[in-house]
Amino acid sequence: MCVLGRVRMVLLLVLLELGVLCAVTPIASHAIEVRWLGVAGLSISDGETTLLIDPAFTKPSIKHWIFNSEFRSDPERVKSGLLRAEVRGAQAIFASHCHFDHAVDVARVSEFTGAVIYGGASLRTIAQADPSLQVKFSEIKDRQGLRIGKFTLTPYRRDHPPIFHLSAFKFLPGEVPDDFHFRFFEYHEGEVWGFRIEHPEASLLVDQSSHFFDENAGFAGKIDAYFVGVANKVSLNDLVENNIIRIRPPLVVPLHFDFFVLQSDFLERMKMPGMQLDVIQKTLRKAAEDIEFRVPERNRVIEIRKPGVGSSKS
Ligand SMILES: [Zn+2]
Ligand SMILES: [Zn+2]
Repeated sequence: MCVLGRVRMVLLLVLLELGVLCAVTPIASHAIEVRWLGVAGLSISDGETTLLIDPAFTKPSIKHWIFNSEFRSDPERVKSGLLRAEVRGAQAIFASHCHFDHAVDVARVSEFTGAVIYGGASLRTIAQADPSLQVKFSEIKDRQGLRIGKFTLTPYRRDHPPIFHLSAFKFLPGEVPDDFHFRFFEYHEGEVWGFRIEHPEASLLVDQSSHFFDENAGFAGKIDAYFVGVANKVSLNDLVENNIIRIRPPLVVPLHFDFFVLQSDFLERMKMPGMQLDVIQKTLRKAAEDIEFRVPERNRVIEIRKPGVGSSKS
């Protein structure tokens, strides 16, 4: 065999070897990495695609509450919030509804990350209110799944629960006005959504509204982690018995328990009064030992995988 023939043979053997190696080496599975961004915000990433839900970093001050003054996204806070959460780019932004603490930064985050904002008419009004920002927007419909990378996200419409359940007081119900001009009390609730997110590595449910309505109970299906807002639950019993135990996820992560109503570095680290995180944990442990309740640390990764692939850890 000539030299060229021998070189060809060696190359062929190497290629065959590589082929065999590729066939027997399992492709490493990446867990879904979720980070809590503060307030009700989450980044959800599989390493290729990043979804952001309720990314809100700008907070109001007392003057907004008293004088209904303009409440606009603060680019510095957004930039540093994204940086601290290591969000360098994203493909999609969702807002569970249009209250200030969920929607104020969607346009700025879209401009910084290049992500498309997905939502209904009220969110579109907020997203497109500042003509100096370049945003991409796409309309979503109730229970119509969207494919984004390997994620399939299905939004479902629901009601925003009252702030004070006994009096049934609702904070800014209805649509964002068409002539929206960033006034603090123009951030009406708009369309309210929960999200079921499926991925080959794990399925998640993200619902900021604390109590799961009957018509949505079946929709939750089997999930690997449940991210739930605990800001205005009906009662401890309602959250634990009617909601978490009915859905029965292996992992529950509470959101929206920090002090989101005012801007102050001191208040930022505080929990809202009445959040009862310890009590929720104790009650849940008694009722269902197999459900882990994990209070997130801001910007710290929570890994989620389907059972059997590896355990979730932060
Ligand atoms: Zn709200
Ligand atoms: Zn909120």
